Formats: sequence, C-alpha cells, structure tokens
Amino acid sequence: MKFTNLTRRTEIGANSYLIEAAGQRLILDSGMHPKEEGEEALPNFRAIGERPVDAIILSHAHLDHAGTLPLMMQRQPDARIFMTEATAEIASALLHNSVNVMTRQREELGLVMYPLFTHRQTDRATDQWRSCPLRQPFTLEGERARREGEEGVTVEFVDAGHVLGAAGVILRAEGRTIFYSGDVNFDDQTITAGAVFPEEGIDVLIIETTRGDSPLPEGFTRAAEERRLAEAIDRAFRAGGCILMPVFALGKTQEVLGMIHKFRKEKVLDEFPVYIGGLSVKITEIYDRRAMTIRRLLPRLQLLEEVAPFVLNGQSIHEAPARPGRIYALSSGMMTPKTLSNIFARRVIESPQHYIFFVGYADPQSPAGLLRSAKPGDLVTLDPDEPPQRLACHIEQFQFSAHASRESIVSYVKKLAPKKVVLVHGDVPAVEWTRAQLAAELPGSEVIVPTPGVELEI
Ligand SMILES: [Zn+2]
Ligand SMILES: [Zn+2]
Repeated sequence: MKFTNLTRRTEIGANSYLIEAAGQRLILDSGMHPKEEGEEALPNFRAIGERPVDAIILSHAHLDHAGTLPLMMQRQPDARIFMTEATAEIASALLHNSVNVMTRQREELGLVMYPLFTHRQTDRATDQWRSCPLRQPFTLEGERARREGEEGVTVEFVDAGHVLGAAGVILRAEGRTIFYSGDVNFDDQTITAGAVFPEEGIDVLIIETTRGDSPLPEGFTRAAEERRLAEAIDRAFRAGGCILMPVFALGKTQEVLGMIHKFRKEKVLDEFPVYIGGLSVKITEIYDRRAMTIRRLLPRLQLLEEVAPFVLNGQSIHEAPARPGRIYALSSGMMTPKTLSNIFARRVIESPQHYIFFVGYADPQSPAGLLRSAKPGDLVTLDPDEPPQRLACHIEQFQFSAHASRESIVSYVKKLAPKKVVLVHGDVPAVEWTRAQLAAELPGSEVIVPTPGVELEI
C-alpha cells in the first residue's frame, strides 16, 4: 500500500492525500489553502500522476479539506465521491460561498484564473456525491479488483467530533486496516459530541496534529473556560463595550450560539443581541434541521429560533455600528481581508471601549493570528488595502478549539498502538513535537512525517 501527501509543504494547507491499495487509487480530502491564492492554494495535483483515481473521500466540509473538490472532480471525472450526508449539505453551501469569494478576488487581486470553479460546476459536482451513514462499511470494487478477483477496498466512516458531519475514514484492503482521522476532537464541545474512534485493529494511522505546538493549560476544563467567557462578556458589557468574536461559519459559530443559550438559560447573563453572518445562518439551519437525528449535545436546542441572532451580510456590515452590549460572532475565523470579521475589526480596533475575543484556532500569519500577538499601541495592518491602525481595543483569548489537544492525540495513539503512524495537518513545530513524543512513548511503532509529494510505502 502506498501513501502520498498532496499538500505543498508540511502545514495545514490544502489538505489532500493519495492512497493506493488493492489496485485502487483513493484520494482523502481535497482542500484549499486558507491563506494562499491561485495555484499555491491548490493541492499538488501533479503528484497524483496520470493513472485515474477511483474514489475521492471527504472527511468534513471545512474548506481546507473540501475547498477544491469541484476542481479535483473535473480532473478525475470517473472517480466516485463519498462523504457523510451532513458534510454533503454543508460542503455545498460552503463551496457556493467560495465561488462568490473567488469571483470578488478575481477583481480585487487581479487573479484571472479565479473563480477556480463556478456555481454551475459546483451544482454538477454535488449531484454526483454519494452520502454514507456512519459505521456502515461499503466496498469499492475497482477495475483491477474485479478482473483479478481481488476483494477491493472497504470504506467505513466513524464520528470524529470536531464539527457537524466530520468523520474519520477506515479503509480495509489487502488484509490490513488504514485509519485516517480527518480533523478530530475527542472531547465534547457545547453542541458537538466527542469522537467515537476505533480503539484496536488499526495497522496504519494517519492523524492530524493541529495543536501539537500548544500544551493544554494546567487544570484546563471546558466548563471552567465557559465560566471564564461568561464573566468576561459580563465585564465587557458593564464597561460599555461590544464584543467581536471572529469565528468559522461552520462549527465555532454554532458552539458560540450554544454557549450563549446556556448562559441565558442558567441566568449567568441577561438577554443581549447577537449578530452572525449570512453564511453562518445557512450552516446553523443545517445544524438545527439535523439536531434530533445526529449524536450531539443539547439535541432539542434550535439555535436560530431560541438564540435568535440578528444577521449581517456583505452590504449591511458596512453600515453596522459597533453598539455596546452586543456580541458580533462573525466569520471568517482567521479575519481574512474583506470578510465580515475583518471589516468589523477595523471598526473597533482603535476604540478602547470595545473588545475582541478569540475563541479558536487562527493561523499565526493570518490577520487574526497577527492581532492576537499584537500589544496595545502597536500598529496593525488587518487589510493590506487599508492604512494600518493603532491597537487600542481589549483583546482576550479563550480556548474552545474544535481540535483534539495534543495530549489526547498522544494518549489515543498509545492506546491504539498502530504499526505505523503518519502525522499530517500540522505546522512543522506541531508535527515535530508529536513525532518526538510518540517516538519516545511508543518505540514499537514507526512514526512518519510524510515529505510532501513523495510516495511512500505504508
Ligand atoms: Zn476542520
Ligand atoms: Zn482542517
């Protein structure tokens, strides 16, 4: 069996991996780099080679895993596409939104190759997706398997926590079992329940290492962190400020709405207005519609109805004043220029009255990452097309990551004790910490950091 890392560097970028097993070629995920543009934002298609791919399997709908799927499908017209039903619904909404973003970038950045795909192409692509329930294995019988009487590859999705629809992928072929974690969270969040992953019988584990560079604070619990957030909101409102929370449209938005619901219900905080973006409304609708049919916390909670957020879009954001006593939970989470959170941040950043709360992961080089590490009084450029601004608003950080802590990744790998562990989805320091830790604690396993673009035997 063979494995090729199709990302361009060791990083969280355009996540995509090629596997060859039982004479079949499978691609796991087809992401778009969150920070790069044009060619650099795509997976390394060249490393796939000439032979056609039999199937593309999507772990979840975040764009760093799904953002180039229509393009990958165009290059691999005969491949069959598999994902969970919730992922299919969410990915369709996110990809259509991505067409709009790329169309805008075509003019703003002068990128003639944008949009990389159109709304029509996205519709045609989604028509071909097959959605699969969790824990129901199915077999892919490729050409060669049929011809040579091989058994093919069996695929099974398992619940990965993380966000709605997210799945790990178990592949069984040639008498061996490969398991790809996708993005995983082993712990319960406010809405999303923790992963249910296999605990034995895996020969090769391909696992994410997002948080490999950040230790869990001493004595950390999510419940205590929720309390700390509620107290901080209360303090900010009493001091006459509003709060901007830059959040991903998928996942963090719904978790924040879930927390606000809990704070109100437990009378920790009074009612106050909450604002979210138009795309987040679409994704939250999917969370609400599927609430009772999936495994999650607060299954009866209908977020849009009960938390009743107000909606800001690409037009209304420009007139929206920063009103005290309100939460603006706006995407993007990385505060990419021209997104709602970036526009709103530029409105509040110079005001000592207001607050920005960071509640999840942000790439250190993204505007959100730069702002997080800025000091009061620093000059900050959130949008290269706009003049720099002096940081005067309050910045606070909270830990509500949708990714497993590095400690829980290591303890899972130790319990599973696979023969080989392939470390992916992490920046170099994160991957290296995880490699060193596993090499020391699991001497019987081979720990591999796959060089991008290089095929390796697994
Ligand atoms: Zn993700
Ligand atoms: Zn990811």
